[in-house]
Amino acid sequence: MSKKIVDELIKQIESKQGAVPDERIQAIVNRIVKDLFYTIEEFDVTPSEFWTALNFLGTGANEYGLMAAGLGFERLLDIRMDEAEAKAGLSPNATPRTIEGPLYVAGAPESVGFARLCNDDEIGEPLVMEGQVFADDGVTPLKNALVEVWHANHLGNYSYFDSSQEAFNLRRSIRTDENGRYCFQSVMPLGYSVPPNGATEAVLKTLGRHGTRPAHIHFFVTADGHRKLTTQINIDGDPFLWDDFAFATREGLVPPVSKVTDQAEAAKYQLKGEFSHITFDFVLHADKQDVITTDITRVRAAA
Ligand code: FE
Repeated sequence: MSKKIVDELIKQIESKQGAVPDERIQAIVNRIVKDLFYTIEEFDVTPSEFWTALNFLGTGANEYGLMAAGLGFERLLDIRMDEAEAKAGLSPNATPRTIEGPLYVAGAPESVGFARLCNDDEIGEPLVMEGQVFADDGVTPLKNALVEVWHANHLGNYSYFDSSQEAFNLRRSIRTDENGRYCFQSVMPLGYSVPPNGATEAVLKTLGRHGTRPAHIHFFVTADGHRKLTTQINIDGDPFLWDDFAFATREGLVPPVSKVTDQAEAAKYQLKGEFSHITFDFVLHADKQDVITTDITRVRAAA
């Protein structure tokens, strides 16, 4: 079949779009359909392959959030946001963004200055993480900023999605104090892989890829008059640190982890024995008109 016949069919389809359309969506759908027609033609896709793919898209829909990460779409959106901010002349000092992923849950308990993310019996190496939230000059602390933190447990599972964990385990919202400080006590997260035998795993396996993420901790950081930051830090030393299936590891988001053995230090955090300590500051962009918002519309879980 020639490209001309494909183009002819596309024209016929587009000629049926006489009613008042949403012009932007119309243009995007037309473009996607056109690209898929060309793909079917170029790869000589058989009817059975086409219907198998369509069926797969239906059954895999509950994992689209993971597939968006694994196929690089979420990273692409971040790269485009970085570009938009650079073009608008926003400060390059801000903390790098990285992907949100599909596992945030709204409604975590809120406290000021400090939070414990889990009960004392949580399995895992104790962790204390703390720092300040700054404006984009890097020196003005932002009080009353909201640091929302969520991470996986020692098995790489997230509360809410893993019903064996208590509600909001390893999820908290911390308001910074008058010096812009936040601090939390938790346990070291473990990296994790996409659900076994799921649609994302099937796609990645077919593409000859793994579906594993290095250990990381997610954050939303918001403050009045500033752009929302969506980011993560990675735990240094993870074997998948620079081999994340979701392409989310970035320079500037891998803080050093120190081992603290001093018991006087441990007592400060009501801990006994050795613990890991991370210091990490967040720097937010000031709000600016005419730059695409970082407050992204997306269906999120809420509990
Ligand atoms: Fe995660």
